Amino acid sequence: MLKLKTTFFALALAGAATMAAGVTAFAQDKLTVGIAMPTKSSARWIDDGNNMVKVLKERGYNTDLQYAEDDIPNQLSQVENMVTKGAKALVIAAIDGTTLSDVLKQAKAKGITIIAYDRLIRGTPNVDYYATFDNFQVGVLQADSIVQGLGLKDGKGPFNIELFGGSPDDNNAYFFYNGAMSVLKPYIDSGKLVVVSGQMGMDKVATLRWDGATAQARMDNLLSAYYGNKKVNAVLSPYDGLSIGIISSLKGVGYGSADQPMPIISGQDAEVPSIKAMLRGDQYSTIFKDTRDLAKVTADMVDAALAGKQVTVNDTKTYENGVKIVPSYLLKPAVVYKDNWEKLLVDSGYYKKSQFQ
Ligand code: BGC
Repeated sequence: MLKLKTTFFALALAGAATMAAGVTAFAQDKLTVGIAMPTKSSARWIDDGNNMVKVLKERGYNTDLQYAEDDIPNQLSQVENMVTKGAKALVIAAIDGTTLSDVLKQAKAKGITIIAYDRLIRGTPNVDYYATFDNFQVGVLQADSIVQGLGLKDGKGPFNIELFGGSPDDNNAYFFYNGAMSVLKPYIDSGKLVVVSGQMGMDKVATLRWDGATAQARMDNLLSAYYGNKKVNAVLSPYDGLSIGIISSLKGVGYGSADQPMPIISGQDAEVPSIKAMLRGDQYSTIFKDTRDLAKVTADMVDAALAGKQVTVNDTKTYENGVKIVPSYLLKPAVVYKDNWEKLLVDSGYYKKSQFQ
């Protein structure tokens, strides 16, 4: 009797605590997968979230999709809620890849499968798998497009270039930058590319939280401090949202006219406004990463892990997270230009042609 009472009391207490935290447990008929996405401010993450939900639902899971609007404590509490409510797997695109260690420790203790989605989760042993694109290759393709746009392989130049990096708390940003520099550095060393500001290295060129306004402000500063009597011919931009900011800064001082053409500007994510910018001639290239494929690979990981089967990965060397090498599946990115965008983005059914009219 005493034991029963204690158990009842403990249960009642646990129930009260759960209610106090505003958390109701997931219905247990289907397994639930928690999906933590960084922000809705960029279309790619909205597509990622929708695709993940679609694929997981088709496979019979419940989903709990949350967006944190680039607020780290917000994402942390969203993941804590998923753990408390009984998610069996977590799919997380981290805002800051180093801030989730405590909650992931709790998750692991409960036997939850933890998958880093697109962005590596760093500084913890408690991440099981990583599904992403070949991030170094993204940078290579961005830089290749600049080489092509400027005609560097035909011996043209020297040209002036400025470099932008992604968010310093996102592991991907270093891979993009290093990939790009593996292509650009030889031209910089030979003087065919000149970084007029001298600002090189992620410590100088990073853009916190991938914020377009921050990139725009930095471009404003670069133009006024270093380009009084010079023209910038190319800008390495790792993400469409930054390219938009960079383009407005350039337009603000008269680029985009016959005697002052737009520099060659790269991007990433093939977002609709940036494809439109490409068609107008404001942006030169972007990178397409098919989020439908990423969702599928991630769902395959969830399925296999929850069934106790072997999870398919294709890279076990590259993604060291500070504690361990996280087994990864890397998909291939594709570079998008004015002359192949329709084939890559419309013929594949990713976008509708009407979105561009
Ligand atoms: C993603 C990119 C994206 C960037 C900004 C990175 O982690 O890999 O696709 O452009 O975040 O959202």
